[in-house]
Amino acid sequence: MSNDQFEIKDSFVKIPNLGWVKLSEQLRFDGKILGAAISRTAGKWYMAIQVEMPNISASTSKNQAVGVDLGVKVLAALSDGTEIAGSKASRTHEKQLRRLNQSLSRKVGAKKGEKKSANFIKARKRIARLYARIANIRSDETHKLTTMLVQNYGIIGIEHLNVKGMMSNHKLARSVADMSFFEFRRQLEYKAESAAVKVVLAYKWFPSSKTCNVCGEKADGLPLNVREWTCMHCGSHHNRDVNAAINLRNYALANT
Ligand SMILES: [Zn+2]
Repeated sequence: MSNDQFEIKDSFVKIPNLGWVKLSEQLRFDGKILGAAISRTAGKWYMAIQVEMPNISASTSKNQAVGVDLGVKVLAALSDGTEIAGSKASRTHEKQLRRLNQSLSRKVGAKKGEKKSANFIKARKRIARLYARIANIRSDETHKLTTMLVQNYGIIGIEHLNVKGMMSNHKLARSVADMSFFEFRRQLEYKAESAAVKVVLAYKWFPSSKTCNVCGEKADGLPLNVREWTCMHCGSHHNRDVNAAINLRNYALANT
């Protein structure tokens, strides 16, 4: 839909043949509206509005490097010690999603070969809607994070794989973490490109969490629920995610 076919005022949009329709949120970007596309996911209507924005200004501190460790529970940890919690809303939704999934597995139709009951189908639809909502919130949070990173750093070190997601026992946590990881990487790469910022992916099985960033010694095992640990070799005490982020930063610096 080109920009002469619709009109936006506050939180309403005027669409041909439909008239004024309420948007669930106001447009947050100030720029020339180029066009829009309407789509439907999990029974809900979405409008993607294309806005022309000035280029993300390149980082002023080109040599500043940062490592970013994406979490399962928190959104991300940075090598400078900052932990970004992510919104409360998405955590609440994830809890809700876990409950819905549990109740789904008890409904008639959950077992293989069993005929799916109406309740099962209804519950599955609710889950799809909630999942789409979580994806939207996460994507929005990730946009803020990736823009901040590209504006403030010249070199950004990240993991190659979504290792934490893969380690997680929860199928659901894994799928949410997966979705967030790929969205993060996608956004970061295109924003970094337009701002001439370097993104360095660590090699595939780089032990970012297990390596002590002070002496380089590797911890034996480090289950996901261990949030803090002390290096047996040099005695340094680590916040798991921040230590991983520091290793990712060092890796990026050594490989640029
Ligand atoms: Zn150590």
